[in-house]
Amino acid sequence: MELLKVQDLHVFYDAIHAIKGVSFNVEEGSIVTLIGANGAGKSSILKSISNLIPVGSESYIEFNSESTMKYKAHDLVKKGISHVPEGRRVFPDLTVRDNLIMGAYVVKDRKRLKEDLKMVYEYFPRLEERKHQTAGTLSGGEQQMLAMGRALMSHPKIMLLDEPSMGLAPLLVDQIFNIIEKINREEKTTILLVEQNAKRALEVSHYGYVLETGNIVTEGKSEDLLNDPKLIEAYLST
Ligand code: ATP
Repeated sequence: MELLKVQDLHVFYDAIHAIKGVSFNVEEGSIVTLIGANGAGKSSILKSISNLIPVGSESYIEFNSESTMKYKAHDLVKKGISHVPEGRRVFPDLTVRDNLIMGAYVVKDRKRLKEDLKMVYEYFPRLEERKHQTAGTLSGGEQQMLAMGRALMSHPKIMLLDEPSMGLAPLLVDQIFNIIEKINREEKTTILLVEQNAKRALEVSHYGYVLETGNIVTEGKSEDLLNDPKLIEAYLST
């Protein structure tokens, strides 16, 4: 089943036509990646799905067989869409634990909350070690873990991950991608991943779309894209 359908998506920033009629689907249970260079429009697509920015009138987005267009961003979280934006956006003055509790979103009894915190700490043991530390004092990688952990607290059907590897040391990049695979496997969470790190993103995903200046120019199974000579030259030969 297609969990997410994006059809003829257009985004304008004043005179700039940033997304020019993009269509793609995300199958339930899969990891799908959108790859593309700086400014190709990856973040704009995720923001459109979460209804954080206005889209063109011809655009249509459907999640779990229902149009998302009439919902506000916070209602979409309740529907099962959890967005982890670029740059992490944790609450710097709150502790790690309180940041995670904010992510639970719906009010939960203490037992549920405790179970969910335990689940997040199993994915990210580092967060448990630092649970009483304020989030603003965490390293970049730890803040990325916190942002993902906070998204997990709402038990999303789909996680939208915006450049989770950005600015991280290579060892941490590997850890983050391993955890993305694990969340998909164990929680059955569908994942839409946008990345400049095309090689690693394609290695963990099932299907990929290549975005260039607001258009999808190529799509295919990730294993095929990894072997596509044109893509190797443009995106994968670093
Ligand atoms: P990056 O990898 O650098 O984050 P991206 O692929 O996520 O890039 P977007 O951030 O979606 O790309 O930007 C797509 C285009 O829209 C770019 O040309 C960008 O300059 C423009 N853009 C994005 N946000 C705004 C805004 N708020 N106002 C004006 N132009 C914008």
